[in-house]
Amino acid sequence: MTESSCPNYQSCRLINSPGFNTGKLSIEHYIPLYCIDGKQKWGNCKRFQTKEILGFCPDFVLPDTSLTVDEIIDKFDENSDV
Ligand code: SF4
Repeated sequence: MTESSCPNYQSCRLINSPGFNTGKLSIEHYIPLYCIDGKQKWGNCKRFQTKEILGFCPDFVLPDTSLTVDEIIDKFDENSDV
């Protein structure tokens, strides 16, 4: 981790939880595209954006998830209604 890494790098479950479901792509794919090298990269991460608004990020959200944060909130609420 460097000063230009994502502020969530040490707490993000995608990075720090062994076995985290990263879908079709690997953690090694996401890290250089989003997690390091400045805000122009991690600022585009949907996990970062979601945490900025909600204070946390559900596990189903990946850096390149196409859902808007509002849609993520709706999906999270739907999954919590059981
Ligand atoms: S996945 Fe997103 S929120 Fe997590 S460390 Fe990488 S850039 Fe930050």
